[in-house]
Amino acid sequence: MALIVQKFGGSSVADAERIMNVADIITDTYKKGNDVIVVVSAQGDTTDDLIKKAKEINQDPSKREMDVLLSSGEQISIALLAMAIEKLGYPVVSLLGWQAGFNTNSTYGAARIKKIKTDRLINEIGRKNIVIVAGFQGLCKYDDVTTLGRGGSDSSAVAIAAALHADRCQIFTDVEGVYTADPRKVKNVSRLDEITYDEMLELATLGAQVLNNRSVEIAKKYNVKLEVLSSITRVPGTIVREAVKMEKMFIRGVTKDTNVARISLIEVPDVPGIAFKIFSRLAAKKINVDIILQSVGRDNTKDIAFTVSKDNAADAVALFEGSDLLKGAKIKCDTDIAKVSVVGAGMESHPGTAATMFEALFNVDINIQMISTSEIKISVLIDKDEADKAVAAVHAAFFPEE
Ligand code: ADP
Ligand code: ASP
Ligand code: MG
Repeated sequence: MALIVQKFGGSSVADAERIMNVADIITDTYKKGNDVIVVVSAQGDTTDDLIKKAKEINQDPSKREMDVLLSSGEQISIALLAMAIEKLGYPVVSLLGWQAGFNTNSTYGAARIKKIKTDRLINEIGRKNIVIVAGFQGLCKYDDVTTLGRGGSDSSAVAIAAALHADRCQIFTDVEGVYTADPRKVKNVSRLDEITYDEMLELATLGAQVLNNRSVEIAKKYNVKLEVLSSITRVPGTIVREAVKMEKMFIRGVTKDTNVARISLIEVPDVPGIAFKIFSRLAAKKINVDIILQSVGRDNTKDIAFTVSKDNAADAVALFEGSDLLKGAKIKCDTDIAKVSVVGAGMESHPGTAATMFEALFNVDINIQMISTSEIKISVLIDKDEADKAVAAVHAAFFPEE
């Protein structure tokens, strides 16, 4: 007997038929003698629809009220899924995030899980109930409902698995695992049997939404055995773990992220400490910076450009507009860009990865605007309209058709 945490994303519970299918998967696991805790997301496009509804009323609603609204999507799906399991004749209980013990910080809209008080979950399992938990939500110290940020149900599931030392955490979705690129957009992709936490973390952070990056961080930290698999076809998926057998492919995946903005500070004073002052201002505002490029100085000035997520762009610009620090430098904000990346732990021992990627882009006439590398990834910034073409070209270069 094992404790298994299963998470079902929005498309897996989009309608009554899908909910009954998910109820079958859950009760099959339970029937085999396992304890089962299930985390579920809002149905289909519910979260997007709720955001639209809010904007019809107020273009700039408070984050607190947005959390009250958005958390309702998951409330609907836990009740419906519990009813489906009742209908199949199994003992079940649905719990909202706070009932399941999720304590978060009070960053509404992007809350971090601080702790899970596991008493209720343990009690319900002790009573042999199948437990259905609303993903994506918790309660902060002000007793307000919070949400964890888009795609946050993955984190809810992995956090429960970590807190209860579950034997497995299965993330069921609408594709059969993690692929070398988005299987809905790119041709000739392959499904990976295994991937390391570090590689998955890079892929998720760089745009592969199949797992939320925060969930991978938690899984790595607490060594949660994670599996990504389909709720539609019952075949083994991709295992995410610490170390994997090196296969012949040293690149694991190609991905794109269009939630990127580039801020260019043109003709800033070329004096010691200027970079420190610029980036500490951003850090103080908790704005994450990704790629940074600084030009060679000329006439006592230089240019500094960096990327942030689109949601942070306006705040980042506001930090520098009219600021004494930059002594009249021009500020440009560019959102028509995308970041395309290749990820793979094997690239360290394979010289020429960057050259292969750049050649693939050159062959389809795509200009690279900025580059950043780490031990296990290479990212380039390009024109947004060329992102899909770039992913296809880079993927074809690393994974040629057999
Ligand atoms: P869920 O609703 O189950 O949370 P998501 O839509 O968040 O599902 O994530 C699944 C989607 O992620 C897939 O439908 C696929 O289009 C997309 N995706 C992007 N990159 C990848 C990748 N490398 N491997 C698998 N899926 C990917
Ligand atoms: N329903 C939330 C979202 O759409 C959380 C999730 O699906 O994981 O972002
Ligand atoms: Mg998701």
